[in-house]
Amino acid sequence: MLDKSNELTAWDRDHFFHPSTHMGMHARGESATRVIGGGEGVYITDVTGKRSLDAFAGLYCVNVGYGRQKIAEAIGEQAKNLAYYHAYVGHGTEASIRLSKMIIDRAPKGMSRVYFGLSGSDANETNIKLIWYYNNILGRPEKKKIISRWRGYHGSGVMTGSLTGLHLFHNAFDLPRAPILHTEAPYYFRRPDRSMNEEQFSQYCADKLEEMILAEGPDTIAAFIGEPILGTGGIVPPPKGYWQKIQAVLEKYDILLVADEVVTGFGRLGTTFGSDHYGIKPDLITIAKGLTSAYAPLSGSIVSEKMWQVLVQGSDELGPIGHGWTYSAHPICAAAGIANLELIDELGIVENAGSTGAYFRSELAKAFSEHRHVGEVRGDGLMAAIEFVEDRDDRKFFDPALKVGPRVATALAERGVLGRAMPQGDILGFAPPLCLTREEADIVVTAAVGAISEVLGKK
Ligand code: PLP
Repeated sequence: MLDKSNELTAWDRDHFFHPSTHMGMHARGESATRVIGGGEGVYITDVTGKRSLDAFAGLYCVNVGYGRQKIAEAIGEQAKNLAYYHAYVGHGTEASIRLSKMIIDRAPKGMSRVYFGLSGSDANETNIKLIWYYNNILGRPEKKKIISRWRGYHGSGVMTGSLTGLHLFHNAFDLPRAPILHTEAPYYFRRPDRSMNEEQFSQYCADKLEEMILAEGPDTIAAFIGEPILGTGGIVPPPKGYWQKIQAVLEKYDILLVADEVVTGFGRLGTTFGSDHYGIKPDLITIAKGLTSAYAPLSGSIVSEKMWQVLVQGSDELGPIGHGWTYSAHPICAAAGIANLELIDELGIVENAGSTGAYFRSELAKAFSEHRHVGEVRGDGLMAAIEFVEDRDDRKFFDPALKVGPRVATALAERGVLGRAMPQGDILGFAPPLCLTREEADIVVTAAVGAISEVLGKK
C-alpha cells in the first residue's frame, strides 16, 4: 500500500480538529496518530500497512465487522435510486418505513414507534424533549427533572453531555445543566462499603435514588436514564437485583425510564436488546451504533405505546410536533440499517456474542484473576474490562498521573490488538465485533497478557 502517512499526518496535525483528543499534544506532534485505510472482519489496516485486531469495534459500533459487501451494496443501490428525501409532514421512503417495522418487530414488548436521528447524542436529545412534551401534555409542567447516573454516558451535546456523568465531558463546558441530576453509579467494585453483597449494594443504589426523589419532590422528577450495563464509565454490569429495585422506585413515583441501548442494542449482550437481558421495561429506548454497525450514521428513539398515546394527544391539541432534523430517517442510512439487521440474523451473531463473549471473558479472568495489579475482570456478552489497581487487597487505585490504563492500551496496540483505555479510572475495555471467533478471542487475550506484563509485571 502507498505510504501516505507522512503527508496525511502533517495535514492531520495542522487542520483536523479531532473529537476527544488532547488538542495541544496532537497539534504539536507529541501523541501518536493512526490513519486507517481499510478493514476486513475484525481487522483494520492503517495506511502504513499495519494490521490490527480491533477489539473495540471502532467505538463499540462495527458489530458485524468490517468490509461487509452486502451493506456496501445496499448503500450504493439506495444512493443511485434515491439518495435523499426528507421525512417531514408524513413523507417516507421504502427503506425508512421497512426499517421502522424491523426495529419494532425486534424491540421489547410495548414499544410502538421509532423516531430517527443520526447519533446517540441527538437521539437522547430527542428523548429529553419527548419527556418534557409528554408531561406538559399531561398537565404537569413542573415534572421535568431527569436523573442520570455518575459514570453514565449519554452523549456530548449540551443536554446529553449533562446527562453524561463523567467529569471529562463536563470540565470547562459549564455542564451539567439543570434540570439534570446524577445519582449513584451501580459500580459494585467501587461500592462505598466492601462488606455489602451485590443485592445489598443494589438496595443501597435504589435507596439513594429514592432519597434524591424525595429531597427534590417526586412531582418534579420526570425520568431516569441508564445504560443497561455502564459502558464508557468503565464497562460495569449491574449488580444483582439492581434493575428490579430501581424500577420499583420509578414506578412508585410515576417516573419514566429511558434505557440507553446505544451500545447494547442489536446483540452486544447476546440478546437483541439489553433491556430483555436484564428485565428492564423502558418507556423509551435509545439506539444508534449497532443499528447500522456504523456503516452509516443512524440513531433512533423507540417510543412505547404508553408515551405514544400522549404524544398523539399533544398534536391533536397543538398541531404537528415541532421537532425534526433534515437527515431524520435518511434513506441511505436506513438502507444500511436494513442490510445490517438482515446480516445479523443471517450470521447468527447475537448468539455468537453470547457464546464467544462468555468464552472470551472466562479466558481473560483465567489469565488475570491472580495478577496483583488486576482488581477486577468483568463484563457481560461481548463487553469486558480489566480494572488495574495499585493494591488489590486495599482496593487502592493508581495515581491517574501514572496513566496506567493508557500505557497498557498502547502496549496492546504495539502487539497488534486495539482495546480502549476507558476515560475515568485505569480500565482497559474490550467490545469487539460480534462476529469474533474463539481463535480471535485467544489472540486478544495473549496480547493482553503481553501488554500487562510489560507495564505492570507478570504477576
Ligand atoms: N449513549 C451511549 C450509551 C453511548 O455509548 C454513546 C456513545 O458512545 C452515546 C449515547 C452517544 O452517541 P454518539 O456518540 O453517536 O452521539
